[in-house]
Amino acid sequence: MDKKSILDYTKGELASMVKPSFRAKQIWGWIYHQYAQSFEVMANLPKAMRESLAQEYTLMPLKIARKECSTDGTIKYLFELGDGKTIETVWLKMKEESIDEEGNIEQEARFTVCVSTQVGCKVGCSFCLTAKGGFTRDLTAGEIVAQVLAVKMDNGLAAHRRLNIVYMGMGEPLDNLDNLARAITIFKDEEGLSISGKRQTVSTSGLSSKIDKLGQMDLGVHIAISLHAVDDELRSELIPMNKAYNIASIIEAVKRFPIDTRKRVMFEYLVIKNKNDDLVSAKKLVKLLHGIKAKVNLIYFNPYEGSDYGRPTRADMVAFQEYLVNHGVLCTIRDSKGLDISAACGQLKEKELSKEGV
Ligand code: SAH
Ligand code: SF4
Repeated sequence: MDKKSILDYTKGELASMVKPSFRAKQIWGWIYHQYAQSFEVMANLPKAMRESLAQEYTLMPLKIARKECSTDGTIKYLFELGDGKTIETVWLKMKEESIDEEGNIEQEARFTVCVSTQVGCKVGCSFCLTAKGGFTRDLTAGEIVAQVLAVKMDNGLAAHRRLNIVYMGMGEPLDNLDNLARAITIFKDEEGLSISGKRQTVSTSGLSSKIDKLGQMDLGVHIAISLHAVDDELRSELIPMNKAYNIASIIEAVKRFPIDTRKRVMFEYLVIKNKNDDLVSAKKLVKLLHGIKAKVNLIYFNPYEGSDYGRPTRADMVAFQEYLVNHGVLCTIRDSKGLDISAACGQLKEKELSKEGV
């Protein structure tokens, strides 16, 4: 049988797996603070324990298969998993480092990691390249955790440096809720990567019942709703699952979700030329979000070879944004980071497959 990765376990679980339990804390430190690449280097563990750990578990369940660096600092990774399947992870530089007149660092650069939760996706959105390849399998918690660990290591980011996580890579996070929740818990551990719930955003295409479940878990994470349309007819064309979980059910679930009083729920709105880029849609959106502490993020549809839809004009994007802002809805336009590389989810994987002639 294949070995499980030690990254699959929470610190509490690790403590019940090794005796005496204080060893768990040492192993944890080696993994998340020292970035150990093997059990062998864990010098303060007895040799016999290092050997038995190595026999039972692996450390990193993935490796870098391909990497693309953008001029704006965005790096897109294609990771190969233990079974040869591949997933994408994106490293985004959100803020540049700033240095004062005396040469001291005023503000450290800020980073966000966009992680995948599944190989492929079952939801089948008509605009999404990940959907084209169908669904292969869920990622384990360890495979989710490893993406962040691997990009931190690859970029030489010290363990204490915090970053943000967005679950916006390949897959539908709420369709893999158990492993997602486990990964969130491992990330949050203050003796590990220490990434609080506030710094983690789960993006979902809108499985209302699972939004409720996530809320009940009280993990303190943010949610982002991939809304994309204001009426059920268009939303069902874009996201077939909308027939089961319609817009009204999503809005109700959002209203029940525990949200930090200082925060807002993010609604992602993928703007597609001549589909949902008009001001009638903007008006309906304002009405729909009435009474919700919301923030809308407009995303340019990113065309790929063979895609059915077009990229909206900048003028239409700005007009849409202005309408929302003028009617009291906070709204930003997502700056397309990494546009010179394969920017939208699924596109790097696609490139690798076509290179191989698959
Ligand atoms: N499954 C989740 C999270 C992964 S998709 C979800 O749907 O929310 C993350 C984001 O990428 C979604 O908002 C999705 O709409 C967006 N996306 C997918 N294909 C895109 C494309 N071709 N251009 C721009 N954004 C895209
Ligand atoms: Fe899945 Fe999200 Fe792509 Fe839809 S947009 S197919 S939910 S990954």
